Amino acid sequence: MPLDNDPEPLRLRCVGIGAGPANLSLASLLYGRPDIPNLVLDRKPDFDWHDGQLLPEANLQVSHVKDLVSLADPTNPFSFLAYLAEKGRIYHFLNARFDSVPRQEFRNYLEWACRRNEHVVLGEEVRSVDFDGADFVVETQRRTLRAENVVVGVGNRPWVPPIVRPHLDATQFHVSEFMAKAVGLSGLTVAVVGGGQSGAEAFLDLITRAAGQTPGRVIWISRRTNYHPIDDSPFTNEFFMPGYSDHFATLDPQDRQNFIVRHILASDGISEDTVRAIYQALYLRRFVYEDGRPATGLYPDREVTGVTPSPPGGWNLEVRHNVDTDSIEHFEADVVIWATGMRSGPMEFLDPIAHRFEREGEEFLVDQDFAVRWDGPSDRNVFLQNAVRSQRGLADPNLSLNAWRSRRIADRMLGVRSPEPLEPFVSWSTKAG
Ligand SMILES: Cc1cc2nc3c(=O)[nH]c(=O)nc-3n(C[C@H](O)[C@H](O)[C@H](O)COP(=O)(O)OP(=O)(O)OC[C@H]3O[C@@H](n4cnc5c(N)ncnc54)[C@H](O)[C@@H]3O)c2cc1C
Repeated sequence: MPLDNDPEPLRLRCVGIGAGPANLSLASLLYGRPDIPNLVLDRKPDFDWHDGQLLPEANLQVSHVKDLVSLADPTNPFSFLAYLAEKGRIYHFLNARFDSVPRQEFRNYLEWACRRNEHVVLGEEVRSVDFDGADFVVETQRRTLRAENVVVGVGNRPWVPPIVRPHLDATQFHVSEFMAKAVGLSGLTVAVVGGGQSGAEAFLDLITRAAGQTPGRVIWISRRTNYHPIDDSPFTNEFFMPGYSDHFATLDPQDRQNFIVRHILASDGISEDTVRAIYQALYLRRFVYEDGRPATGLYPDREVTGVTPSPPGGWNLEVRHNVDTDSIEHFEADVVIWATGMRSGPMEFLDPIAHRFEREGEEFLVDQDFAVRWDGPSDRNVFLQNAVRSQRGLADPNLSLNAWRSRRIADRMLGVRSPEPLEPFVSWSTKAG
């Protein structure tokens, strides 16, 4: 592979930026295709998949069939089944009859797919992407690459409310740092803020810790009106089908935004098994073990409106009830864990060409193949994976359409169109036949 001092930069059909599930899917679909020389680069020196919050009991929230390839190319050698078979445990997996696959197992599968694909390079950050009139020029920390196409798959970044940002430290942190920082909490008061899956997993972990590691009190504050489960029912799951994604893209931007707000629990609710595990843990501690440890407090329908240091070393949370808005509550906590989600971050490396891209709100505008609309040649494209939720709907950051979206991108580069799955049962569009 050419390095800094090589005279000619390596020229590729496709450079992927980021090797999370999105671009690993693309790399897997392109594997063994000499007609599309490609490289996928990730700045991480070692593979991880949200390892900072990889709690031992956490499960995948979707079917394992929604792996890197199966929904687009079921015979591809990078499938989850191929992984199990290669590891020799396909029968054991079947016998185990998991309701949902442990997240650790799926993470290990992703690492396996990453490691066996020599076109995926870790420890190489992309610093800038420019266009020289013929190709994209991709500068990494150690070389220059030329590419006909660039596929951005840099995922989302942890997000906390602005009031928290000045206070982030060892005792106040985003849940993505849970494994490293939620330690040594014995006897302390811990507040978890955020009522989605990550907040639920953090709360469950804290209230079920072994003796000697049990916090004194754990409180759980959520803006939502209750600790709502994910809606995993069949018609809701049609939102996570290719046909729905294409339909969604045709809607008026305001209608799309309204839809996302109204149906947020289709993607961001808590898994039923996690909700039940929490309720059962609360029951056991109060009625069966009768040790009342740790003390717990559940406070939904509330917004944290202020955070101030509370000497000698804790925090004071000012909390407003969403209905009883005149009532302000105050909670003291030694440690505050913000499970307030992820948001797409700025893609500074695109700055040299970003002025040539069309936009819709805060997103770059993409076409039906996830290519950014721009003023450059139509056979040179920047594709976006998991960066257009407002245009493509709730499934965009999710694993559900990962393989399908990657195949669409690959098809565009190859100038072909693979057969689409059948339309959803529901006629979402008035224009459908
Ligand atoms: C804890 C957690 C659990 C989840 N579980 C599920 C689930 O069960 N089911 C589901 O459908 N979805 C789940 N999701 C949502 C979604 O599937 C994941 O967030 C998924 O990782 C998104 O994949 P991605 O490839 O878009 O981004 P990421 O996985 O975030 O990968 C992006 C990569 O880009 C790299 N990168 C960034 N900038 C650069 C650069 N300049 N140069 C090179 N590399 C760069 C980063 O190092 C990173 O490795 C979960 C999300 C979280 C946070």
